[in-house]
Amino acid sequence: MPHLTELYDVALLDLDGVVYIGPRPVPHAPEALRQAREAGMRLAFVTNNASRPPDRVAAHLTEIGVEARPEEVVTSAQAAARLLAEQLPAGSKVLVVGGEGLEVALREQDLVPVSGADDGPVAVVQGFSPKVGWPLLAEGTYAVASGLPWVASNTDPIVPTDRGRAPGNGTLVDAIRTATGRDPVVAGKPEPPMHREAILRSGATRPLVVGDRLDTDIEGANAAEVDSLLVLTGVTDPIDVVLAPARLRPTYVGHDLRSLHASPGGLRVGAGDATVGDWHAVVDGGTLRLTRAAADGSGPGDGASGGAGSGGEDDGAEGDGAEADRLALDGLRAVCGAVWAAADDAGAGGAAVDAGGAAVDRASVQAALDAARTTRAPARPY
Ligand SMILES: [Mg+2]
Repeated sequence: MPHLTELYDVALLDLDGVVYIGPRPVPHAPEALRQAREAGMRLAFVTNNASRPPDRVAAHLTEIGVEARPEEVVTSAQAAARLLAEQLPAGSKVLVVGGEGLEVALREQDLVPVSGADDGPVAVVQGFSPKVGWPLLAEGTYAVASGLPWVASNTDPIVPTDRGRAPGNGTLVDAIRTATGRDPVVAGKPEPPMHREAILRSGATRPLVVGDRLDTDIEGANAAEVDSLLVLTGVTDPIDVVLAPARLRPTYVGHDLRSLHASPGGLRVGAGDATVGDWHAVVDGGTLRLTRAAADGSGPGDGASGGAGSGGEDDGAEGDGAEADRLALDGLRAVCGAVWAAADDAGAGGAAVDAGGAAVDRASVQAALDAARTTRAPARPY
């Protein structure tokens, strides 16, 4: 069976929670990406963060052990600049409510960054920079209130820092939105321009989106009709995947970037695929039950180890290393298969509502994941 590295020509990699967490690489990421290149897969580093230009992002990646060239980095600033360049003549002045990342991206598109509403801008672009303060927000507000086109690189509510959550570009966009009553056009994930920019720049014909967030990376991939791999090294808990409505469901789930070197059959998740490896999951009257075939290899349902939560200490599920990881992932996939099908049958866009709305009871899902020992990766600062 071919691996994902052979099935897809370019990996469109989210950065935070996938490749690095703040100043540190995610465990196994540097060697997994090095091996992906050796296997012939090309890499594109796709970030919603517009504050730093590609050469600085590439330098940071290289510093933490992930070799990256500036031309492999795609930022929401570039996607925003392309949106503007498609509607403005070359040489047009654009007011930048943001930082260096946006200025570099505008110049690349033959647009001219300016910093004041009185400098003759014909459009406004807004992206995260830690240096944006009230004076620049006021300039942006004057320009947006005058009716100029307004593009935001992204509207992420938070930006992760090594001290925790801090206000992201979405909060700064909200300042101008509140002051003017207008809404920007948004370039970043999950909106289509971001993945379109990455596909245009990388020349991908069969791209794979790799991300840690359902509502940006995975939703964006689904909107672009591109296959996606969710890794569990960032912000998404396993139970979030199980309870995800159809538009947020990934094609594949893996623990971390080593999954690029697995075959699709070991990672694929699909509504109705409720028997995976040794596990079988079923939703019965709104309650999820997960059973495991006996260690002698008899089929699922035969000699099962019991319902959710009954995974004993002696059932062999622990083991160590790769085998335990595989078992846990198979359990998660089986649970997704059963819950997604039940949620789809219940309607409402496949939302797996818990107690009250009730496609599936949340506590039974958590108990099943505990029984399968499906836990999230330990290290993240927020
Ligand atoms: Mg991320």
